[in-house]
Amino acid sequence: MHIQDIFAQHPTTFSFEFFPPKTDEASEELFRTIAALQPLQPSFVSVTYGAGGTTRDRTHDLVVRIERDTNLTAVSHLTCVCHSLAEMTAILDRYAASGIENVLALGGDPPKNLANFDRTKDAFRYAEELVRFVRSRPGANGRGFGVGVAGFPEGHPGCPNRLQEMDHLKRKVDAGADYICTQLFFDNRDFYDFRERCDLAGIKVPILAGIMPITSKAGMVRMAELAAGAHFPAKLIRAVGRCADDAAVARVGISWATEQCADLLHHTVRGIHFYTLNRSDATRQIYQNLGVESSAALRAG
Ligand code: FAD
Repeated sequence: MHIQDIFAQHPTTFSFEFFPPKTDEASEELFRTIAALQPLQPSFVSVTYGAGGTTRDRTHDLVVRIERDTNLTAVSHLTCVCHSLAEMTAILDRYAASGIENVLALGGDPPKNLANFDRTKDAFRYAEELVRFVRSRPGANGRGFGVGVAGFPEGHPGCPNRLQEMDHLKRKVDAGADYICTQLFFDNRDFYDFRERCDLAGIKVPILAGIMPITSKAGMVRMAELAAGAHFPAKLIRAVGRCADDAAVARVGISWATEQCADLLHHTVRGIHFYTLNRSDATRQIYQNLGVESSAALRAG
């Protein structure tokens, strides 16, 4: 389904993010995860794109398989880094031919082994240019692709000037984005402030809040590295610090994420996007803690 139709039908969206597995075994495991999450009735799911196109085929194949074998709509992530215009054109034409209707257009970061990669060879430097290009393509069914972009409630490290950063986000939206999905955050005040700053900048598209429960101490360290310095409130650090083992950390992390979701719903969030890490337990537990069996029940409340 086109993302515009999803937003028209769902006053609040609930979406789950997966990454493409590397092996057949992990792929089957992921489909067991997806089967376990399907009863929650997400509005859509999304599939990440490995840095520099390292998962180009796996992302494509996973999105196609989700759309073919389940009743879910899948959004395919796509990044600018390491792609020529011919490659981008080929990727989008293949998506369209496969019936993939929606893309999350991202700047991306160079792969770790190519830290000094020469970006002048890329067709697009910033996501804004990719959004414009994706919009210019016919897409599946000749309707054009649905397009999402990333937003950073705590700020993106590539732009320390928060006023300029908001200008960049506004340009990205004006280039044709249908919605913004945010980076994970642990303090809802960061999200509410971001949402208000977007409003002041004249950004009116839906803003989906990115939620990722902490499930282990090592996972927390990885989040801090990958999410470019996620801000962990002192209260959360203290609570995790008290935990005897990772099972206890997961209980604390899931409880924290549940509180975040309840508060976001109370503050009429337009959507919640769960970073699942290809596991179903934490997301299912959050729904259970919220007292519901599906997204439909969350929307109704
Ligand atoms: P951009 O919008 O291009 O912005 C990058 C930086 O450049 C920002 O600091 C911005 O302010 C600045 N900027 C933008 N335009 C201009 C301009 N005209 N002049 C000067 N500066 C400018 N990465 C992956 O590799 N694969 C994924 O699948 C993936 N999925 C993600 C999903 C979500 C929801 C989020 C939040 C992030 C995801 N990322 C993914 C990470 C993302 O690619 C990186 O964080 C990247 O550094 C920023 O991407 P962007 O789309 O915001 O880039």
